[in-house]
Amino acid sequence: MAYSYEAPVSQSLFDRASVVTPGGVNSPVRAFRAVGGTPRFMVSGTGPYLTDADGREYVDLVCSWGPMILGHSHPEVIAAVQEAVSRGTSFGTPGEGEVALAEEIVARIEPVEQVRLVSSGTEATMSAIRLARGFTGRAKVVKFAGCYHGHVDALLAAAGSGLATFGLPDTPGVTGATAGDTVVLPYNDLEAVRAAFAAHPGEIACVITEASPGNMGVVPPAEGFNAGLKELCAADGALYISDEVMTGFRTSKAGWYGIDGVRPDLMTFGKVMGGGFPAAAFGGRADVMAHLAPAGPVYQAGTLSGNPVATAAGLAQLRLLDDAAYAKIDAVSAELRSLVGDAFTKEGVAHTVSSASNMFSVFFTDRPVRNYDDAKKQEAFRFTAFFHSMLEQGVYLPPSAFESWFVSTAHDERAIERIAAALPAAARAASEATA
Ligand code: PLP
Repeated sequence: MAYSYEAPVSQSLFDRASVVTPGGVNSPVRAFRAVGGTPRFMVSGTGPYLTDADGREYVDLVCSWGPMILGHSHPEVIAAVQEAVSRGTSFGTPGEGEVALAEEIVARIEPVEQVRLVSSGTEATMSAIRLARGFTGRAKVVKFAGCYHGHVDALLAAAGSGLATFGLPDTPGVTGATAGDTVVLPYNDLEAVRAAFAAHPGEIACVITEASPGNMGVVPPAEGFNAGLKELCAADGALYISDEVMTGFRTSKAGWYGIDGVRPDLMTFGKVMGGGFPAAAFGGRADVMAHLAPAGPVYQAGTLSGNPVATAAGLAQLRLLDDAAYAKIDAVSAELRSLVGDAFTKEGVAHTVSSASNMFSVFFTDRPVRNYDDAKKQEAFRFTAFFHSMLEQGVYLPPSAFESWFVSTAHDERAIERIAAALPAAARAASEATA
């Protein structure tokens, strides 16, 4: 596919980057490999807009993959960061900011009695699994195909996100011994979970699941699925870990827990709670968290954990996320979903706009998508044409057909109008695309 829309400054930055960084990027999906073309190097963001190194402005539907839920450069978040920075950037000691952020998380999410701050979602899930194994004295971990929990060795089996995009079944570098204790099951299939517990009684430390998956595209849990997981775990003495790195503080004030009310033993968070800085967390039952060092024997640590600038940003962002903010995000999402659906329908493109609260994505199929296998059956080549047409018209979508789209409180009528204006031509490009 030829791209009529060039980005010479981004291209020259990408050329430079490719010399000193593998693939030219610090996280694979940013390289545009799934869609081709030149990755855009962004220089600034304001509200719902990003500006690239060539001086072009885009309506942003990635929002840094979730964190920028108030839009870019929100004045109150920036002010909190500036105030924190003015006092120093890292002390390697406890500080009040991390206490306040932990209190905010505990206050919002009832099953979280205690929380430990870390710097990335990967660290959060890695540590939660170690804790589950340490607490139960068991080795096996159940995960679901298409669910991505960061690049934790034991969880890089049939993971979604960048791995869905690249179609990598697994990755070199993860040993058989590491992956050998991971049991991968089809998503939304409680029978498969029941069978796994029957096959490995008393051996499964935990079941980890995305609270509502967004890394194989958006595939919400079927009615009763999460509750069933919780029940099966409880019956066997395994822990139920709900990964809310993506859904936490986004899908509602209390994340996906605020929607389905299923009480996990442990939960993981990231993205929104860091306000655009590296901050993440895991937490849950106090009796389980008590096993974590220095209170207990399970080791876990971090030089920059609870960093004062990151915690100030996260706290400022969370405090701005009140009921009105979520109502706004939900309304923006609903309007966009309907505009996107109408555009494809008009062009006769088989599609499903799949949503979970305000997270959504498009599958290029009209068959139901309940798991990763269903998601992979979509006509992803149509997404490539759609993506480039939107990009050319100034709308920045996730550069993969297997990622959630994200909106913010800053997506106002002007931003939505710009998206609406771009959709007809992009839907036409999708309808004319060939494999
Ligand atoms: N868990 C989920 C559900 C995620 O979506 C992600 C990242 O996209 C992670 C964990 C890993 O988080 P991080 O990229 O901060 O390591």
